[in-house]
Amino acid sequence: MSDDAVSETAEPSEAPWFAEGVRFSCVAGCRRCCGGAPGDVWVTEEEIAAIAAFMKLSVEDFERSYVRRYASGKPSLRERRNHDCILLDEKGCSVYAARPKQCRDYPFWPEVMDTPFAWLAERNRCPGIGEGELHDAPKIVDMLKTQKRG
Ligand code: SF4
Ligand code: SF4
Repeated sequence: MSDDAVSETAEPSEAPWFAEGVRFSCVAGCRRCCGGAPGDVWVTEEEIAAIAAFMKLSVEDFERSYVRRYASGKPSLRERRNHDCILLDEKGCSVYAARPKQCRDYPFWPEVMDTPFAWLAERNRCPGIGEGELHDAPKIVDMLKTQKRG
């Protein structure tokens, strides 16, 4: 059988393991995904401009204090010495309404949604996983497709 014949008769791609949806609700007062361990919060140039505007800062001033750039030029938010995000304060995210997509999408990240085991393992970090609101698969797939990570 030729490759063409295979592609014509191929079954639609398999449903994701989370086809029935998964439960997640953020737990009030928890801030664990915003720090505590080294990591990157990747930001686009548009997100930098949006957060700067939210903080009523110029893009230049915001970048100077809150953004680090890797040798490739790719920007990510700075961390404090304890690895908390620089934008985390005692009440939570100080720019919540303008937080980057990476933060808005958590915990629906590719590495977390890869397998049911990865999803359950992420509960060690995020107590909201498996609890509360049911999130349907198409919404999660859309989020995964539109994520641009470092
Ligand atoms: S770790 Fe989970 S429950 Fe805690 S703040 Fe982050 S998303 Fe919310
Ligand atoms: S930008 Fe806000 S939501 Fe994202 S990691 Fe920093 S404090 Fe948390």
